[in-house]
Amino acid sequence: MAEEKHEKDINRYSVSRFNMFKECPMKHHYAYVEQLPEPDNEYTLAGRLVHQAIEYILKGKDVEEVYQEWYEAVDTGKLSLPRDQLEYTINQYFTYYYHDYNTEDTILVEHEFNYQLEGDDYFNGKIDQVYMKNGFVGVRDIKSTRQQLKYTRDDVYANNQLLTYVPPTEQLIDAKVNFIEIDEIRLAKLADEVPLIQRGKPSTDKENLSLVTADLYRAELERQNLLDDPKYARVLEFLEQRGHPLFNRVAVQLSNRDLLDTNEEENQNIYKAASLDIKYKLKDKQKCFMCPYRNICMHDELAGGTKSREQLIENMR
Ligand code: SF4
Repeated sequence: MAEEKHEKDINRYSVSRFNMFKECPMKHHYAYVEQLPEPDNEYTLAGRLVHQAIEYILKGKDVEEVYQEWYEAVDTGKLSLPRDQLEYTINQYFTYYYHDYNTEDTILVEHEFNYQLEGDDYFNGKIDQVYMKNGFVGVRDIKSTRQQLKYTRDDVYANNQLLTYVPPTEQLIDAKVNFIEIDEIRLAKLADEVPLIQRGKPSTDKENLSLVTADLYRAELERQNLLDDPKYARVLEFLEQRGHPLFNRVAVQLSNRDLLDTNEEENQNIYKAASLDIKYKLKDKQKCFMCPYRNICMHDELAGGTKSREQLIENMR
């Protein structure tokens, strides 16, 4: 195999590397030991462009070039989402969070850090956003999805990535982090109308209403004089508590500061703990289906065939 150095430095540790090893040690081998290129798949491409569009807007850069990359990806079949989805999502996002972004000071955006470990090893990551609001500092992690929003406070408490990013963030900004936050974005479009069922009544099926806002549902109940009907009132209450169908921000306060002391020894322990939390899980069909190394992994020299391993790797570049 031709020796070629890719950006996956073997000494570089990261949360995504831990997660990859946990998901499949073979995949980790291809990515970090053989350092094969890892082309964007449909999901990583969409996520990367969402992050980039938000970054460009917060940094005052021209977001049009990110939209162009999205259009090209849709036109060439790399993305199976609407052509205007990114633009739509970003416009909705900044409208919805207009007040938040105007009342907080953004300190870091898409900031890459390298944190020295033992020997040549280092810990690497990219912090999506660090901001200050009312004198408190928060670390925000953006997640995009096509499914219904799902993050709860428990998920944020247990989020290894965010917790692992706290010490490097504190070192970078020379201040304590007070809370961590997940900023979940659904790549979909809001419903224009409430789905109606037989006899023209509003649907009460929560799945059916996943893209309907509480305001739209309330307006439909008003229009049909159904606001006082307990059956519909309960659905409206559910929609109000569920929140916006496309955006969900969940923050938790870091109350136990002893666990996240910024002293060096403690930090090393956090990384060690992250690396020990590895359990083997092989040949998960769903994961294999999505895996960028699938062709290499399934390649069998003895079975013959027209393509060599080198050719398959070349095709990935
Ligand atoms: S195809 Fe499956 S077993 Fe092979 S590297 Fe990918 S996830 Fe692992």
